[in-house]
Amino acid sequence: MLEPTHGVTLASIYAARKRIAGQVARTPLIRSQMLSERFSAEVFLKLETCQPTGAFKLRGATNMIAALIEQHGHDALAKGVTTASTGNHGRAVAYAAARLGVPATICLSQLVPANKVAAIEALGATVRRVGRSQDEAFEEVARLVDEEGMTLIPPFDDPLIAAGQGSIGLELLEDQPALDRVLIGLSGGGLLGGIGAALKGIRPSIQVTGISLSQGAAMWESLQAGHPVEVEEVESLGDSLGGGIGLDNHCTFALVREVMDDHYQVSEAAIANAMVDILEHEKLLVEGAAAVGLAALVEHGLDIRGQKVALILSGNGVSLETFDQARRLAER
Ligand SMILES: *Cc1c(COP(=O)(O)O)cnc(C)c1O
Repeated sequence: MLEPTHGVTLASIYAARKRIAGQVARTPLIRSQMLSERFSAEVFLKLETCQPTGAFKLRGATNMIAALIEQHGHDALAKGVTTASTGNHGRAVAYAAARLGVPATICLSQLVPANKVAAIEALGATVRRVGRSQDEAFEEVARLVDEEGMTLIPPFDDPLIAAGQGSIGLELLEDQPALDRVLIGLSGGGLLGGIGAALKGIRPSIQVTGISLSQGAAMWESLQAGHPVEVEEVESLGDSLGGGIGLDNHCTFALVREVMDDHYQVSEAAIANAMVDILEHEKLLVEGAAAVGLAALVEHGLDIRGQKVALILSGNGVSLETFDQARRLAER
């Protein structure tokens, strides 16, 4: 059989699952009484908020670092791994590297607030403050890779990253073998691509629905254009869904195109309402990016009557200040 160009296979997802077992949480899938009644369906929530770093990105980062150790030996990573991310991916790389005994350097711009820097340092990583933007932090990452022999752990665009996130799909089907549909937040596409590849590989009839922001959604614009394009980043409650997909994208663009059935955009107000609903009725604090599945069900009036549907609560990286903004927006 021909290898798919994106390099993600069901076998690579099973291998990831095995590799990361014991290093990351096998998260619960809970039935939501409130949402099941509201939509006359069986609605389940996959709690990636239960990961030790508060988001699913730990799966991909752990899989990639562990696979590199397996392939090249621990010494090949002696110079360490690196990335540039203030958010869930930065925490994931810091945590995964520490667990696997590899040094990690996370590059952050000088504008990143001290509490976020401290949070990454507390996970055992070295933080390097450089430049005044995320782009300048990335230039430093490229330099560390080229000149200091560090290894880049990218946030989504790598078959090992997507396969790690795909382990969520295997867990979903173990817990609910008769799932009809899964709604997944979509930015760079590691999460949707990995889960979609797992689900389609096992049961192709499962509907895979992607949800993007209504502005600054690079994957949405790229799918429309038929090739990766750049978009301007916009502030959002779903900040973990911001950012580009890379003009040189070599994995997730093709993967998402292959496994996604339908795709919606959601407004800030819909995200805000969904965040508040999930806190009020499920007693779960989630970030905006994790609330987009519910936001799409409501804003687009998706008909899921009689279906078994899972929403991926992808992370809880939200400050009380940001949650407060969501609350004020939801009250309007
Ligand atoms: C990164 C992230 C996403 C999107 O994942 P991609 O692989 O970039 O599509 C969704 N939710 C949260 C909480 C994230 O951190």
